Amino acid sequence: MFTKILIANRGEIACRVAATARRLGIATVAVYSDADAQAKHVAACDESVHLGPAPAKESYLCADKIIAAALATGAQAIHPGYGFLSENAGFAQACADAGLVFIGPPASAIEAMGSKSAAKALMEKAAVPLVPGYHGQRQESDFLRTEADRIGYPVLLKASAGGGGKGMRVVERSEDFEVALASCKREAISSFGDDRVLVEKYLTRPRHIEIQVFADGHGHCVYLFERDCSVQRRHQKVLEEAPAPGMSCGRRAAMGEAAVAAARAVGYVGAGTVEFIANQDGTFYFMEMNTRLQVEHPVTEMITGLDLVEWQLRVASGEPLPLKQEQLRIQGHAIEARIYAENPEKGFLPAIGTLTRMRSAPAVEFALAAPGATQPAAVRIDAGVREGDAISPFYDPMIAKLIVWGADRDAALRNMARALAQYQVVGLATNIGFLQRLIAGQAFATADLDTGLIERHRDTLFPAPVAPTADTLALATAALLQREQRNQDSRDPWAQTSGWRLNTRLQRCLNFEHDSGNSEVRIDYAGDGRQWQLQIGGNTHTLALHAANTDSVRISLDGRTLQADVAWEGEGLHLFDGRSQHSLRLPDPMAHAGHAEAEGGRLTAPMPGKIVALLVDQGASVTQGTPLLIMEAMKMEHTIAAPSAGTVEALRYAVGDQVAEGAQLLDFKAA
Ligand code: ADP
Repeated sequence: MFTKILIANRGEIACRVAATARRLGIATVAVYSDADAQAKHVAACDESVHLGPAPAKESYLCADKIIAAALATGAQAIHPGYGFLSENAGFAQACADAGLVFIGPPASAIEAMGSKSAAKALMEKAAVPLVPGYHGQRQESDFLRTEADRIGYPVLLKASAGGGGKGMRVVERSEDFEVALASCKREAISSFGDDRVLVEKYLTRPRHIEIQVFADGHGHCVYLFERDCSVQRRHQKVLEEAPAPGMSCGRRAAMGEAAVAAARAVGYVGAGTVEFIANQDGTFYFMEMNTRLQVEHPVTEMITGLDLVEWQLRVASGEPLPLKQEQLRIQGHAIEARIYAENPEKGFLPAIGTLTRMRSAPAVEFALAAPGATQPAAVRIDAGVREGDAISPFYDPMIAKLIVWGADRDAALRNMARALAQYQVVGLATNIGFLQRLIAGQAFATADLDTGLIERHRDTLFPAPVAPTADTLALATAALLQREQRNQDSRDPWAQTSGWRLNTRLQRCLNFEHDSGNSEVRIDYAGDGRQWQLQIGGNTHTLALHAANTDSVRISLDGRTLQADVAWEGEGLHLFDGRSQHSLRLPDPMAHAGHAEAEGGRLTAPMPGKIVALLVDQGASVTQGTPLLIMEAMKMEHTIAAPSAGTVEALRYAVGDQVAEGAQLLDFKAA
């Protein structure tokens, strides 16, 4: 076994590999770009080597620098993770040439599976079932159209060199063929530098079912069962599960054996995935082979109880596979959801920003089970970012992988629902609400799966925003009152929560903004600072505030106890009531206007940089123009000053911290 490896990746997969290496007593070397100097994966490794600027082309994709780093640190092998250089045959070969072990298949196997067309030709020879289609060399438009006519519409055009769902076009009719071909070729050349395409029958309502295979250098090859990755958006996986619902033992063996045949046909070694597309009746066809560890490998780990990274390390160091086919078993059911920084409502547009809050259900991290446990963990979270880290525009915006296990699919689903409800992410948009609707929806709950599930259920998955309930508005009001009680400012009568300053009973009106408009709450200060009357939507409620932590509220509303965790983001207020997130805004009529950098009490970083000095303490009262902190960016110092007289309520960073552009630096309350 190796004593030291270099992990040529970042984010969760680098942390994931490091976790197994640590467990096996193998030292780890991280590599990082400028953007990742403080990243979790760097902290997770024993040593680290800086590669270069943030863009992947200048850092994580620099094969030479990575190999030099491995040689300089004395690593014997390189784990490429997924993405970046993991399926680059040139890199695998360069590792071998430098006397380093590439923890993956031989360069020749990557090459053989690299082109979808060439791979199909090979698979045809190995008698692996293929989707009816044309995957030959000829590329003339007329010829391809004749082939499409022969196959029968709809057909799918695919870039031979494609990946990641790019370079695909569905063609419904012969008349549309030419235009679609031209557009597919344009995308193929710009994305992959290669405009060759293949044509295949477009299956309607197909399922994506893939088989995990593993081969060693001693001629053994096994399959670790299937994963169903049918729930996709724009041909990208959103939910993955194992085993595939409805899979029969016979079909599983047939698919497993076909996958093993595919791996053997290219002299495969290590972990690989053979992707099949399946009809509803179970007939299946080879789609492609991914010659690396997949993002969704944890669901296979959960149902087999095996650590696939450990297997990778053992195989790469020359050991035989730890188990034979007949020793492999499926236990229970696992589901993975990819938590992304993105905006599902805006076409899944990636989001960037700082994770000012990231909390989750109790979970094990990068592990199959809690120490000493006899069965897999109910909740596992693999995350490459921590609270306070940023999701930058340079890399994939994945925040975490949430993996759940249960004795059966229903139990796993319940664990997923609970774990999603407990997720709290503030600072950027996420797909958590969308995932909650997806797994609660009838189609997924009853395993009525196919790749069009999300499109077909648009109406329920993207509902029109609804106004917050009275309970939510009462919790929001309580959060505000509680914050004001903490920040008692005698100069501001409106901040006096007890309301006793005036002779008459104090009334106040709050106007909460939300996605579906705004809602008014009228507060009547009737008690001693612990009790209020609220008018919400024409009804009167009695609110009492119970003591709680600074970031949660506990109230009685008409005698019922309610509680929620609270996160303030300038004027934004997020409530997490254990079921879902409610985001409201409370524009402060007294907030200082006219300062671009200080909107609604937020002082934000004008550019990415580092904090070099903090000039005030938390709680300090300052006058307008008082320097608060100094940032260094692009080798220059920038002083952030108070936009008005006020109070520094919280400092969010320490000296030496890196901050992303737009990150909130401190909480400032104008006097
Ligand atoms: P990529 O390498 O870009 O991920 P794949 O060939 O793996 O491309 O296909 C990605 C997805 O596209 C599949 O998971 C499936 O949803 C859809 N797809 C691929 N081929 C077909 C087909 N012949 N018919 C219908 N859908 C398909």
